[in-house]
Amino acid sequence: MAEPDGGSDGSSDSGLHLEPQYEPQYEPQYENMKQGKLYITATPIGNLADLTFRAKKILETVDLIACEDTRHSKILLNHYGIQKPLLSFHSHSGRTKVDKIIQHLKNGDDVALISDAGTPGISDPGYVLIQAALENGIEVIPIPGPSAVLTALCASGLPTDKFLYLGFLPVKKGRQTLFKSMADSKYTVVFYESPHRLLKTICELKKVLKPDTKVTIAKELTKIYETFFRGTLNDIEKKLPVGKPKGEYVVMVHNG
Ligand code: SAM
Repeated sequence: MAEPDGGSDGSSDSGLHLEPQYEPQYEPQYENMKQGKLYITATPIGNLADLTFRAKKILETVDLIACEDTRHSKILLNHYGIQKPLLSFHSHSGRTKVDKIIQHLKNGDDVALISDAGTPGISDPGYVLIQAALENGIEVIPIPGPSAVLTALCASGLPTDKFLYLGFLPVKKGRQTLFKSMADSKYTVVFYESPHRLLKTICELKKVLKPDTKVTIAKELTKIYETFFRGTLNDIEKKLPVGKPKGEYVVMVHNG
């Protein structure tokens, strides 16, 4: 027989399922619950269809979106019909900009941080703002989605159980030391490289790593001309298109 006030499984006699009871002891405690939340929101790295359902919902509901380049982000937001106040926040934004965003959060505004592409904070601005938010007792919530590093790795054909992510390699100081540490690494090493430095970097790697080191280069991930070049340090150059490299690249090496 149906219980008049709803069954012990949370369902009412009308057959409707009730929300689970709110249990404050399991909720994170923040000093001031009236503060806004900072959502670290991943956006597509090329294919606009890669915005997650949850990320779309967050971008639609926050009060403010902090982004690197407002013109660039408008392409994504217009595609999804999202109209929100935008505030530019990039690698050269100083403390004043951080303070401004923190003030919005303290005033109760929810803020989404996005970058030009991929996951904010991963070789993209974010760290300083996230640190400041945490220092101010503001809740920081990750909204996961695309990132070039994982997109490249998962289809690389190289071991992915352990990997070492180096972001962008230093242009001068520390470059040789890093190459040497790659030679010693048992793990797949992943880094981002600009098209105009790609061939120079391969040439330098050849001097330090074994010729049979496995290499996968991922180009223009999720875009029309997405390509994976797979080979060894010895033959990878021959596999790349002739002429100056163009586009965006992730390089992965593994001392097999
Ligand atoms: N935060 C981003 C992420 O989560 O992937 C990375 C931003 S970092 C400033 C930009 C670099 O990521 C590019 O120079 C390139 O090396 C790599 N990248 C971004 N999008 C890419 C894509 N579609 N294909 C290949 N590499 C990409």
